[in-house]
Amino acid sequence: LFSKILLAYDGSKAANKALDRAIELAKVTPGSSLHVVHAFEFPRFFIGEALAPLPASVNKDYYDLAVQTTEDVKKRLDSEGLNAVVELLQGSPAEMILGYAKQHAVDLIVIGSRGLGGIREFVLGSVSHNVVQSAKIPVLVVK
Ligand code: ATP
Ligand code: MG
Ligand code: MG
Repeated sequence: LFSKILLAYDGSKAANKALDRAIELAKVTPGSSLHVVHAFEFPRFFIGEALAPLPASVNKDYYDLAVQTTEDVKKRLDSEGLNAVVELLQGSPAEMILGYAKQHAVDLIVIGSRGLGGIREFVLGSVSHNVVQSAKIPVLVVK
C-alpha cells in the first residue's frame, strides 16, 4: 500500500473530499504518514509592463487566509486522531506539491479535481492538471 501520502489542499470542496479520502487511506495503512501541503503566492498585478506587488495590508490578508486554511486542516486531522505533517509553502502550487513529493519520497499524491477558482467546464484545474501531467508517482484525483 501507500506509506507516504501527500494531500494537496486549498480549502475547496474537492480538496475537502480529497482530505476525506486521504484520511481513510492513512487510517487503513498502519505506519503510513500523511503530509498536507498548502501553497500560497502573493498576488501581483501589472502596471504597464512591470509586475508590481500589492500593498502590504492586502498581502497580509492573503497570508492570514493561508494560515487559516492550514489551521482548518490541522483541526480536522486532530479530531480524527491522525498525526500528520501540515506544511504552508510559498510558491506556485503545482511546483510546491511536486517538489515536496520528490524531496520527501512521497508515494501517492491525493488531490482534488477542481479548486477555488477556474472555469467550470474543465474537468481539472491548472494545479491538478499540472500535477497529473508531471508527477512520476500515482496521483489520486478526487471529484
Ligand atoms: P485554477 O486554479 O486553474 O483556476 P481550480 O482552482 O478550479 O482552477 P486547481 O487550482 O487545479 O483548480 O485545484 C485542484 C486541486 O489542486 C485542489 O482541489 C487542491 O487539491 C489542489 N490545489 C489547488 N491549489 C492549491 C494550493 N494553493 N495548495 C495546495 N493544493 C492546491
Ligand atoms: Mg486553483
Ligand atoms: Mg489557480
